[in-house]
Amino acid sequence: MTLDRRSFLKLIGAGAGAAGLPLIGRAAELMPKSGKRVVVIGGGYGGTIAAKYIRMADKSIEVVMIERNDHFVSCPFSNLYIGGILKDLNPLTIKYDKLAANHGVKVVQAEVTAIDAAAKVVTTSKGTVSYDRLIVSPGIDFRLDEIKGYDTAAMEAMPHAWKAGPQTVLLRKQLEAMKDGGTVVITVPLAPYRCPPGPYERACMVAHYLKQSKPKSKVVMLDANPDITSKGGLFKKGWKDNYASIIDYRPAKKVTEVDAKAMAVMIEGIEEVKGDVINIIPPQRAGQIAVAAGLVGDDKNWCPVNPTTFESTKQAGIHVIGDACVAGAMPKSGYSANSEAKICATNVVALLNGKETTELSGINTCYSYITDKDAVSVAGVYAVKEGKIIAVPNSGGVSPADFSATKIEAIYAESWLKNILTEMST
Ligand SMILES: Cc1cc2nc3c(=O)[nH]c(=O)nc-3n(C[C@H](O)[C@H](O)[C@H](O)COP(=O)(O)OP(=O)(O)OC[C@H]3O[C@@H](n4cnc5c(N)ncnc54)[C@H](O)[C@@H]3O)c2cc1C
Repeated sequence: MTLDRRSFLKLIGAGAGAAGLPLIGRAAELMPKSGKRVVVIGGGYGGTIAAKYIRMADKSIEVVMIERNDHFVSCPFSNLYIGGILKDLNPLTIKYDKLAANHGVKVVQAEVTAIDAAAKVVTTSKGTVSYDRLIVSPGIDFRLDEIKGYDTAAMEAMPHAWKAGPQTVLLRKQLEAMKDGGTVVITVPLAPYRCPPGPYERACMVAHYLKQSKPKSKVVMLDANPDITSKGGLFKKGWKDNYASIIDYRPAKKVTEVDAKAMAVMIEGIEEVKGDVINIIPPQRAGQIAVAAGLVGDDKNWCPVNPTTFESTKQAGIHVIGDACVAGAMPKSGYSANSEAKICATNVVALLNGKETTELSGINTCYSYITDKDAVSVAGVYAVKEGKIIAVPNSGGVSPADFSATKIEAIYAESWLKNILTEMST
């Protein structure tokens, strides 16, 4: 089905049900008709904030946010669910109704299947929509061809749980069903990947659960990297203090093949490791729609952008934010996506209004839980220098090594989650 701009507007204006295009909220009626339209792909950490901040900056710009799901589950804190600390995913789940009601963002639940950069048209499972500028924040997809045998069936036997939702629940169920004395294997891909400290926090949370409920069990962590990629000193201390007999960390072990029937992984064709529960975190790249739209660079994985506007260097008029983009020193985190979304929104509004753009002042803080009460963090401030995003010298660092003395980082972490999810959904 192909719709021109006028028909698409009419369709979303008709609201849910009438024409089979489920609008979340009834914001269409609140929207002024405008000549300028920004389409945002993805309603996660980057997309929600970009959509909201454009509307906050300039109500004359129409914003259409297209997301395949009618809700979003946060990866941050999903490791706590896997470790049994959170009982369900409800505290990590947001809806989009208030973005529509409070800010007039037109939220469309559909799969984006193509982007025509020349015609400035996005094709979705429900029709097409044209744009003046497009913001793409689709998160990640997996480079499955790099792990032989890891297909969609194998994912059910050996979950990745690297996109929060059903996969997260599956991994938790497998841990609950495992016998005491079992082995949990966690594999880590070569960086860059979504959330550098995430796999090591996961090892902590799995070990925390095993220590409480299945104390004869072990975690074998096979890391393709030569060492822990973030907060290494703090994780090593946390493991030594709490999980010395549980976590067996093996660096420079790149998993290249799986056998889901045998519950085994193969390291570069020479070493086999078996597990009772196997969590494969596969190598990653920008979300498939960014790859299909020709937004990825020479590495074929990630999208190069202008570091001030986040406009793609491959396709004019399209901006890429969040995990999918190459943001220099900024890590692939929810907080980075939030920060990138704000500067991107500011500059998209400026570009549409013929105004000067503003330089990035980026920020990131990433918390990781060691136990149910102890957390650690890394923080950074980022700026553009000589066309690249760099970490501002002496601006950040990691939290103190005596983290178990104060418990303060865990309190900060909870507050961070509450704030950022509220900002995304209200
Ligand atoms: C276990 C784990 C723990 C983490 N912990 C932290 C943490 O503590 N702090 C932190 O800052 N970050 C953390 N992260 C990283 C964080 O989750 C990501 O960096 C963040 O989600 C990136 O935001 P994004 O907008 O790029 O992608 P996402 O938030 O994943 O949003 C992408 C959205 O786009 C939608 N989408 C994609 N393609 C299409 C399409 N074709 N059509 C329609 N919709 C589409 C998806 O459904 C999704 O909702 C963690 C990640 C993991 C896996």
